[in-house]
Amino acid sequence: MIKDYQTQKALRGPYDFCILGAGPAGITLALRLARAGWRVLLAEGGGREYSERSQGFYHCTSSGLEMYAGETRLRFLGGTSNHWAGRCRPFDPSDFAASPPVGLPGWPIGYGEIARYLPEAMAIVDLPQGADFKAMNAGLGGGDFDADRFLLSPPTRFAQKYAQALEDTPGLDLFLNCNCVDLEFDKAAGSVAAVVVSDYDLHRERVQARHFILAMGALENARQLLNSQSLREAGVVTVDGMVGRCFMDHMNVEMGTFILKSGQGTDTRQYYTTDAFVAEYQAGKGNVSASVLADVQTYGRTAEVKHFLENLACDTGVASKIKFVADFSCPGDGVLGTMIEQFPNLQSRLTLHQDKDALGVARANMHWALSDADRHTIKCIGSELAKQFAEADMGFVKLNEFVYDTTQPLKIQPHAHHMGTTRMAETPAHGVVDSDCKVFGTGNLHVAGSGIFATGGAANPTMPLLQFALRLADHLNQQMKATTA
Ligand SMILES: Cc1cc2nc3c(=O)[nH]c(=O)nc-3n(C[C@H](O)[C@H](O)[C@H](O)COP(=O)(O)OP(=O)(O)OC[C@H]3O[C@@H](n4cnc5c(N)ncnc54)[C@H](O)[C@@H]3O)c2cc1C
Repeated sequence: MIKDYQTQKALRGPYDFCILGAGPAGITLALRLARAGWRVLLAEGGGREYSERSQGFYHCTSSGLEMYAGETRLRFLGGTSNHWAGRCRPFDPSDFAASPPVGLPGWPIGYGEIARYLPEAMAIVDLPQGADFKAMNAGLGGGDFDADRFLLSPPTRFAQKYAQALEDTPGLDLFLNCNCVDLEFDKAAGSVAAVVVSDYDLHRERVQARHFILAMGALENARQLLNSQSLREAGVVTVDGMVGRCFMDHMNVEMGTFILKSGQGTDTRQYYTTDAFVAEYQAGKGNVSASVLADVQTYGRTAEVKHFLENLACDTGVASKIKFVADFSCPGDGVLGTMIEQFPNLQSRLTLHQDKDALGVARANMHWALSDADRHTIKCIGSELAKQFAEADMGFVKLNEFVYDTTQPLKIQPHAHHMGTTRMAETPAHGVVDSDCKVFGTGNLHVAGSGIFATGGAANPTMPLLQFALRLADHLNQQMKATTA
């Protein structure tokens, strides 16, 4: 059933499972656990639709690179899937095989642990069963870039697709406008005793359950862990510990432009770094999409005003002379967009701000920071791509200077793929959750979503996070069966 906690105070605890957050991760877990016969509460902070009231709780400050944390996430039923783009690429075995070259360990589990959940995760986001992640074009021949492999989900909007199932599945209570505001840890028992939820009028209630799962997105999961006084007092969470650290996004760097030789066609090509490239350059992975523009594309703010001038300039070959008016590309030019792996970095982190939101939860400050290793990755991908374009006699690449001159400020945008803030590791020295997604130092607190990613590769995060959610549901189901038998 679906109820509105703002008007219906009908929680029916204690529950077997209390899941916080109804985005792709929370909805997937809730349906799977309820279908296995357990009593499940799914507490969603937002309502059925977007509202300023709920979205305002995502406001946070930024002291690092701008990553638009307040705008890109969506805080209502279905979460950020309400505007995700649906691009899906699975992790590769190599993502799990080696540690990144930055003094932090990689994944403590092998790819096989999630590979078996790929068909089901594909079905959840409406990818055709049995469809292969096919290469869209040929690779680049020089051994550094294969063709990328990906599929596009419609994209699945989780609130629309799963509303009926959330309503009808026996044992499942979904409460909207039901905000997690505190996690109560019982130090003697070594487990979370209750979660405190609140409506928007500060009506608070304790919810008891045997297991709790944080599924509020990578930033909110870390924020709630840091905000819990009882977790801090018990030493499970420390303000300077691993919670919130190693925040990663995929780097969206415009590498530059290219001109194709004639006869090359104008279809967009998508390339992906090979494992050999990663090993040779000790660099991260990356996707490069090479698109030929049909129209003039401007990057300046005054785009509309300059349109006529730019077309004229392209026609008469004086484009470079008016670059000062607006940065632009002419029809037939190609642009190189990217989605590049960021390595885990202790300095890239979420911390708590001194200000609290209207429900008494400390606001977050984001400090998105890159390391020298990330600049190295960007430089290697750009330079090798340029070389291989030339070697394959495809055309000419003109890289932006900041790509190869790492002393220049980097121009970068986020992809809004939030990862790493509650990373998985073998020990608490290097992460927040163990290989079963359980928070170190607790017996019954788990985390779902891409915050658990130890490394992010250059695969889009949603389908893999669903694979992890399915794995977590199976693990908890088995554990519950064993303890209740
Ligand atoms: C513009 C855009 C495009 C994207 N495109 C892609 C793409 O093409 N491919 C891809 O793989 N990924 C893409 N993503 C990323 C994708 O949206 C996320 O990976 C995915 O939504 C994460 O799912 P989640 O369930 O972990 O978190 P979310 O979707 O963020 O859901 C979290 C839920 O928790 C709720 N919540 C928050 N705080 C509380 C609280 N205190 N109490 C209770 N509930 C709370 C929220 O309301 C929300 O419903 C894109 C993201 C953006 C912004």
